[in-house]
Amino acid sequence: MLNYKSGLDYALKQDQNDPLKVFRHQFHIPKDKHGNALIYMTGNSLGLQPKQTKTYVNQELEDWANFGVEGHFEAKNPWLNYHEFLTQTMANVVGAKPIEVVVMNTLTANLHFMMASFYKPTKSRYKILIESDAFPSDKYAVESQLRHHGYNDKEGLILWKPPKDKTLLYYEDLETILQQEGDTIALIMIGGVNYYTGQFLNLKRITKLGHEYGCVVGFDCAHGAGNVELNLHDSGADFAAWCTYKYLNAGPGSLAGCFVHERHAYNKDLNRFTGWWSHNKATRFNMRGEFDMLPGAEGWQLSNPPILSMAAIKASLDVFAEVGIGALTKKSKKLTGYFEFLLKDLGEDSIRIITPSSPEERGCQLSIQVKQADKSLHHKLTKAGIISDWREPDVIRCAPVPLYNSFEDVYRLVDTLKSILNG
Ligand SMILES: *Cc1c(COP(=O)(O)O)cnc(C)c1O
Repeated sequence: MLNYKSGLDYALKQDQNDPLKVFRHQFHIPKDKHGNALIYMTGNSLGLQPKQTKTYVNQELEDWANFGVEGHFEAKNPWLNYHEFLTQTMANVVGAKPIEVVVMNTLTANLHFMMASFYKPTKSRYKILIESDAFPSDKYAVESQLRHHGYNDKEGLILWKPPKDKTLLYYEDLETILQQEGDTIALIMIGGVNYYTGQFLNLKRITKLGHEYGCVVGFDCAHGAGNVELNLHDSGADFAAWCTYKYLNAGPGSLAGCFVHERHAYNKDLNRFTGWWSHNKATRFNMRGEFDMLPGAEGWQLSNPPILSMAAIKASLDVFAEVGIGALTKKSKKLTGYFEFLLKDLGEDSIRIITPSSPEERGCQLSIQVKQADKSLHHKLTKAGIISDWREPDVIRCAPVPLYNSFEDVYRLVDTLKSILNG
């Protein structure tokens, strides 16, 4: 535990000494109508815009204007294999090898494409296991996969639940489920960092356990990518997918990332849905030949991708490359630890932090259950210039993002919360 202190002075001093302080100035911080910077705590929902994004997108607009279709070859960043500009930096962010990573489609779409390859139900092994508080889109996706293969979406779905009266997930419970019905489970698909509680699960442990029982294991890393060190390659997971508009700051509805473990890179027996972008780059435009699959994650691409969206991803990933995910998570742990320290001062009678207290089991987000609160609390916070997220019935989620949030932001957030609760 770091030696945190209360008081605004301490926060200001931490900001002054913060080795990453310059990065806040590389982002547009939303302002209120008087021009004051808002305290933005929802980078877990939509990350802020890097100032260089406009330049990157404009470059592609200009090249389109100047070159038309020739931009595929003549643009400053030729469009033909534009996704390759993102591969190495994205691989670094999620701890993977370049051959394991591709940027394509959107998140839920990628989950479906991954399940098309990795959910191979048989008569005796057809069930899908997810966490009980999975993000709704993930739950709908796996239910529809069950139905698509002719199974009942209730009977075929197994939920990994927190123990009675608890909010977090325990590995012992997963183990029990697998001991009891592991041989009926075809796929385990879990949110690597839970969107609601902020719990960062041990991907390697879950994968190892799942594989021991013969299950395929995949992760949704929407709340993990750009937030925690995922080490996807070492986790051994079969596949993963994540969006880029949360911690990866690539703009609303931007394209998603996808990971397929190296051991599947050359496996042509792994069935998949394909398109011309999964075909060998060298012969793609011959347009007549037999399908010749690209190895690695790239072999799951379908279409030629939207370059304007990819330009925004490139702008953001270049910021990540400059900072490094290691330095980022180091500050993150300090900043969120400080947040937790200040919150504890509010007392257990008024709040309870749902998120794990161990820095290894969480990212930057803290989910705070506020006793006897309703949504009016959220309105008051918003009115005071704090952008946070409210989950019924009584939880606020706040994510101090180390790239652009300051210790002062965190101080002011807790100070405001305190005066609302005491007011
Ligand atoms: C944000 C989020 C989504 C959203 O899916 P889209 O396909 O990008 O709309 C899905 N799953 C999880 C776990 C998320 O956090």
